[in-house]
Amino acid sequence: MELNDSYGRNINYLRLSVTDRCNMRCFYCMPKEGIVKKEHGAVLSYEELLLVATTAVELGIEKIRITGGEPLVRTGIVDFLERIAKIPGLRHLALTTNGLQLAEMADDLYQAGVQRLNVSLDSLNPQVFSDITRGGDLSRVQAGLDAAEKVGFPPPKINCVIMRGVNDNEILDFVEMTLTKGNSIRFIEYMPAVKEDNWHQYSISGEEILQKIAGKYSLEQVDKGPFSGPSRDFRIPGARGSIGIITAVSGHFCSECNRIRVTSTGQAKGCLFSDEKTDLVPYLRPPDRERLAEVLRSIVSTKPERHSITTEGYAHQNFTMSHIGG
Ligand code: SAM
Ligand code: SF4
Ligand code: SF4
Repeated sequence: MELNDSYGRNINYLRLSVTDRCNMRCFYCMPKEGIVKKEHGAVLSYEELLLVATTAVELGIEKIRITGGEPLVRTGIVDFLERIAKIPGLRHLALTTNGLQLAEMADDLYQAGVQRLNVSLDSLNPQVFSDITRGGDLSRVQAGLDAAEKVGFPPPKINCVIMRGVNDNEILDFVEMTLTKGNSIRFIEYMPAVKEDNWHQYSISGEEILQKIAGKYSLEQVDKGPFSGPSRDFRIPGARGSIGIITAVSGHFCSECNRIRVTSTGQAKGCLFSDEKTDLVPYLRPPDRERLAEVLRSIVSTKPERHSITTEGYAHQNFTMSHIGG
């Protein structure tokens, strides 16, 4: 079955967040302090998350990415992933992690049926990494990347949020990983998630990132896979890994959007930057599969054409990316 929205886009990808807790505090994602712990029962149980995932796949979703917060901090995550991987009709199961616990968990994740890992890594310099993440240990993430490959994963994709004056001097170092290590890199434009008045100061456009890379390397465009969605992908001829640019802010890539999102508390969103969200809890407690399917379908059919962050006077409610799942 195909799931299409009212602008003719095929929606085949669900980003499912399993927790909004995290063992890091990246400054662009979470406030330093003041994160209120969710009330007991506010977060969906694995049973409920599984029902959302199964229903979405029945409607036409083919790829699920498990995200968070940090998905690996939730107890029981490996068993849950194993159940998700077995959903009939699901073609692709991926997980986004900060990598801190990957060294210990990579084998279990692989055995559970996760096909692809994205690891968020914004600096290859231990001090800068620690500053961005407010205390994260780079060596643990690097050990996690190595462990993932040892147990059989393809080289994890690296998600890298580029911020002016913070890590934009490392763009070429990351690019070199596509040649030397075979990782694919996805450069993500910094988004105004934790609403700060000065967010523009960090902003560096995908175009500028691309120009920096093109100043040193020749690049060829890479054909997009069926689930790649709104990213522009390139490769240095001969490199094993590709280079993706996600111009969430500056680009008009919404025309290629293929995704919906569900948070760990059961809020479904058709667009990352829209304030519109639908509470799925009434259809999960008690479970009502038919209504749940209807509501998921309507989230797809009312999906906005595009975001309007770059329009003057744009205002969105403050949100933490850790709640939505990126
Ligand atoms: N904790 C996991 C991780 O860091 O990979 C998964 C959740 S995290 C919210 C998912 C992605 O969102 C990460 O790659 C992170 O870099 C990205 N992200 C968070 N806040 C962002 C922001 N303000 N702008 C751009 N990307 C952001
Ligand atoms: Fe945690 Fe990921 Fe957000 Fe960093 S980006 S604070 S690792 S959820
Ligand atoms: Fe899709 Fe909204 Fe992101 Fe555009 S801004 S790509 S419509 S989620």
